[in-house]
Amino acid sequence: MVRRVAVVGAGVSGLAATKCCLEEGLEPTCFEQSEDIGGLWRYTDQAEDGRASIYRTVFTNSCKEMMCYPDFPFPDDHPNYMHNARLQHYICKYAEHFDLLRHIRFKTLVTKVKKRPDFSVTGQWEVVTQRDGKEETAVFDAVMVCSGHHVYPNLPLTEFPGIQKFKGCYFHSREYKEPEKFRGKKVLVVGLGNSGCDIAVELSAVASQVYLSSRSGSWVMSRVWDNGYPWDMLIITRFRTWLGNILPRALSDWLYVRGMNRFFKHENFGLMPLNRTSRKEPVFNDDLPSRIACGVVVMKPNVKEFRETSVVFQDGTVQDDVDVVVFATGYSYSYPFMEDESIIKSRDNQVTLYKGILPPRLEKPTMAVIGLVQSLGPIIPTSDLQCRWAVKVFQGRQGKPKSVLFSPPRRYGNSTTLQTDYITYMDELASAIGVKPNVLKLLLTDPQLALKVVFGPCSPYQFRLMGPGKWSGARKAILTQWDRTLQ
Ligand code: FAD
Repeated sequence: MVRRVAVVGAGVSGLAATKCCLEEGLEPTCFEQSEDIGGLWRYTDQAEDGRASIYRTVFTNSCKEMMCYPDFPFPDDHPNYMHNARLQHYICKYAEHFDLLRHIRFKTLVTKVKKRPDFSVTGQWEVVTQRDGKEETAVFDAVMVCSGHHVYPNLPLTEFPGIQKFKGCYFHSREYKEPEKFRGKKVLVVGLGNSGCDIAVELSAVASQVYLSSRSGSWVMSRVWDNGYPWDMLIITRFRTWLGNILPRALSDWLYVRGMNRFFKHENFGLMPLNRTSRKEPVFNDDLPSRIACGVVVMKPNVKEFRETSVVFQDGTVQDDVDVVVFATGYSYSYPFMEDESIIKSRDNQVTLYKGILPPRLEKPTMAVIGLVQSLGPIIPTSDLQCRWAVKVFQGRQGKPKSVLFSPPRRYGNSTTLQTDYITYMDELASAIGVKPNVLKLLLTDPQLALKVVFGPCSPYQFRLMGPGKWSGARKAILTQWDRTLQ
């Protein structure tokens, strides 16, 4: 019988986990190594060990109606896309509203999570924590790992011959905070993800020149979509997902490429993804095309070699006098507190989780990894639903899985990123716990709402509309979501 749950981390996922445990009558204890909640969204001037670090100007890529907790909409007067400080403020309000703070132990680092000797019978874990140099051990019936996935830099220097000879400075994007100290410098940014693009654009205002090197290109999308509406309110709809699933692959790929190119033609900007039809996470940047058009950001292929003061690219071009290299090369997953990290990470360093949540080889399903799957959708509602599903599994109230030896769905098989379709994934979890909106029933009883659910944005409130954990404000929130967006 699961009662006591340890939650590792008090970012947006850890808060969702804590709240879901409380909703289900469990006793959560959330351990947060730093002094406050918010995780990645709590900006500090210095990167802290073990916690994600963002630059001063990070804004959200998901709009407020799509990325809120499903029973806690953003205030009307908030902009659609938010600066990290505003999001952090919202996160604090959420924790206050649901009275979560008293369940969090701040400045408490989880140093070890290990199975109890009788794990195969009890499913219990021993959790060792450290606070002010004092170590404590406690036993928990289940563990929710919410420690974040943008913490440990992936810095593959061996893939960059000659980097040791390079006399300029180089660092991972995790260390980047603001542009001023790069004024007048020639900077190379390696990597065409969200951070690489943001940093290249920001530096282009002060640097003498910015080069942006990409191995395989990326789709670059604007936050502002047709008629100026938020991209995600228009794209993440049940109707579009359904259409995407029934159309022949070739037609759906063609429409996808056409949609991605409507902001500008990627080929002309040196951004075209090598694999055009792969649904790899796009980059959101409204300014990059104009920075390229103005020549202050110059696109480059992969780096072939670094020399003392110059960089040679795969196409044979050489850039001299490069002062700074920013490696925006992403992050690796790591769970240093796991006594046996192979529970989550398999031998080849990949992560395979049942439903993107449960480590598959446990004798008892009493551990959940929250917030790791990646989709075109926002993380807060995803984490919320994952937690609700996981808590049901812990309680044995989830019909499946009866067997504890899970076999991961093929789609997650060898994926390092656990990439998935947002609505398909959310519906899968929602169906399993009985909270997927029943469109047919809605059509008969509340047709106005049904139409919004099918053709409108698949906003988080949809997953608190019916079934266990239902929120009484969900209907109204769906009917008024466009009003808040326009405001
Ligand atoms: P985190 O926010 O990383 O929180 C983890 C917490 O766990 C931290 O507070 C950390 O201190 C704590 N912790 C870790 N280890 C331990 C330990 N051993 N003991 C105790 N505490 C521990 N997602 C979106 O949906 N929309 C966006 O617009 C968006 N923009 C992004 C922009 C950037 C630049 C980045 C890097 C990511 C963005 N993301 C976005 C994804 C982002 O990861 C999520 O929004 C979200 O912050 C993840 O929350 P989390 O709680 O899972 O992890």
